[in-house]
Amino acid sequence: MYPDIDNGHIYPKNCRAKQKIAIVIPYRNRETHLHQWLLNVIPLLRRQQADATIFVSEQAEVENFNRGMMKNIGFIEATKYDQFDCVVFNDVDYVPEDDHNIYQCLSQPNHMAGRPKKKGYKLYYGGFTGGIISFRTDVFKGINGYSNKFFVWGGEDDNLGKRIKKAGLSISRPLYNVSHCTTLRHKVDKRQPLRLKILQETNRNLETEYDGINTSKYIISSLDNKKLYIRILSIIKKVDNMGEYEKSLAKNLTLNL
Ligand code: UDP
Ligand code: MN
Repeated sequence: MYPDIDNGHIYPKNCRAKQKIAIVIPYRNRETHLHQWLLNVIPLLRRQQADATIFVSEQAEVENFNRGMMKNIGFIEATKYDQFDCVVFNDVDYVPEDDHNIYQCLSQPNHMAGRPKKKGYKLYYGGFTGGIISFRTDVFKGINGYSNKFFVWGGEDDNLGKRIKKAGLSISRPLYNVSHCTTLRHKVDKRQPLRLKILQETNRNLETEYDGINTSKYIISSLDNKKLYIRILSIIKKVDNMGEYEKSLAKNLTLNL
């Protein structure tokens, strides 16, 4: 379907886009959604004449899912791969419905998914940062990215909201129906029962400098240039010390420990 796309890079052929964008999708085991997302968002990016490279940041099966860390790892590896002005974090099940909802960065974080279908297209809540959000790469580095502390569903996006506030930034959102997003259906994941406690702790000591991009520990299991995206498969561990087994897996591979 897309003979002219390679290495997940979509760009206009007759002009140069103002911003170079990395799209980072935190991912594990949602293949149908990934196909639906690619089939809908690639044409949208083309209509917007965007210059975007798609990175799928996939967590290997050894640990509970950590969405914040998958986004940090996607960001770190994307910035090693190329220079980007802008990063857009996009959950695999969020698809913008309006072509005016532009994949781009503003000076403030741009939350593109304020009105999701599954919430009746209403603004979920004022501080909501989930679904799709873009940052200028220097701004994202400035808040040290996401917290790495949230395993299992929930919390890391509210923590992100606090980081944004602490940095003196505010959240921009496209108006009304422009931020309508289709939300693809799936079984509800088990919740992190401790998420409110972790959130309270991380809020009380919002030491963003000791928890974020600069403390993401992982092993790259593989980095594949697929046709429509770049797949980053990484191994993370809840404990700080990676075991000998993981280290042995990591021979000749990228290490960020
Ligand atoms: N995700 C994933 N596999 C999982 C859990 C989460 O790929 O097992 C990613 C995926 O991008 C998903 C996002 O994390 O859209 C948010 O998780 P989920 O959809 O479960 O949460 P929701 O926002 O629907 O409550
Ligand atoms: Mn979902």
